[in-house]
Amino acid sequence: MKILLAGGAGYIGSHTAVQLANAGHEVVIADNYYNSSPEAVNRIQELTGKEIPSYDVDVKDKAKVDQIMKEHKIDCVIHFAGLKAVGESVQKPIEYYRNNIDTTLTLLECMKENDVHAFVFSSSATVYGEENPAPYTETMTRGRCSNPYGWTKSMMEQILEDASKADPELSVVLLRYFNPIGAHESGRIGEDPQGIPNNLMPYIAQTAIGRREKLTIFGNDYPTPDGTCRRDYIHVMDLADGHVKAVEYACENKGTEIINLGTGTPYSVLEIVHAFEKSNGIKVNFEFGPRREGDLPEFWAESEKAEKLLGWTAKRNLEDMCRDTWNWQTKNPKGYNA
Ligand code: NAD
Ligand code: UDP
Repeated sequence: MKILLAGGAGYIGSHTAVQLANAGHEVVIADNYYNSSPEAVNRIQELTGKEIPSYDVDVKDKAKVDQIMKEHKIDCVIHFAGLKAVGESVQKPIEYYRNNIDTTLTLLECMKENDVHAFVFSSSATVYGEENPAPYTETMTRGRCSNPYGWTKSMMEQILEDASKADPELSVVLLRYFNPIGAHESGRIGEDPQGIPNNLMPYIAQTAIGRREKLTIFGNDYPTPDGTCRRDYIHVMDLADGHVKAVEYACENKGTEIINLGTGTPYSVLEIVHAFEKSNGIKVNFEFGPRREGDLPEFWAESEKAEKLLGWTAKRNLEDMCRDTWNWQTKNPKGYNA
């Protein structure tokens, strides 16, 4: 099958591109490199030994997306092309709503005009909101989000559900990711955050390599076993494998399916720090600081639906996630453009 990856040069998109190509699918990438680098596409090609057509386009640009769909007979679109920094979304809500929602609408319109009927969407556990207790199951209703980023995901899910209800030909898979970390085992592709990382794992890795002085653990007085927050961390390669299954599912079915991609096991921030130290034989300088606004004490996935529907479960463990993150970090201390 031929898959268009909107935002395919980014962290999750690049790993998914490799796994799709390895599974025998054809991949086309559309990305404006707002939060990524064309070097990622070079490395996807290097890892797969395949030429990957890539387009430097803003996915809000309907004429250009239409042109790509006319040039390639696309079977399925995966939409990764979102702005994703929670804190920034509070400062720049209009940019977040414009980018995330407009890209979704543009892709849907172009798909309709070009007879493309399968859509896989990068959603997030954040749509479960503040009310739902862990573990999160797909049958729970979407909750109240604590920031504009989360609301864009919630709204886009609604838009996609409405679109598939109105069009019996359209198949939508809403993938709710938990906390992706790690990198391809080669260390050639990985997460390359611009500026100071917001997320835990890149912050740990940059602290370990000396780019940051110390990690601040946001709060140690939560009602959790060690007082630090717990999350469901998932290896990005497992997540990528989940997309391969989701694309194949979307191409064979109709309607909307919501699917969690998580391991079902939560780890605390302290457990992650200690696992990183143990797996890599390196100390991570850290201190405890105040809680970060908007953080929930703990959540993790109920992951049975992915297994039943897609035949997918996460295979890589926490040690793999820590080792592969450090392998990428040490081989690319300043990311792609060093
Ligand atoms: P990323 O920033 O690395 O990748 C997103 C890619 O989309 C980037 O390459 C960026 O340049 C591109 N992009 C953004 N807007 C664009 C536009 N208008 N036109 C063309 N390209 C555009 O992020 P990621 O971590 O790979 O996340 C991918 C998706 O998964 C995002 O939608 C994100 O919200 C979602 N998600 C990520 C996480 C996570 O922890 N990484 C968790 C849940 C959901
Ligand atoms: N965290 C932390 N210090 C950091 C970054 C994150 O203690 O510098 C904690 C954060 O409070 C949360 C967990 O690590 O409990 C995961 O945060 P991240 O931003 O990676 O993902 P989130 O679950 O918020 O999407």
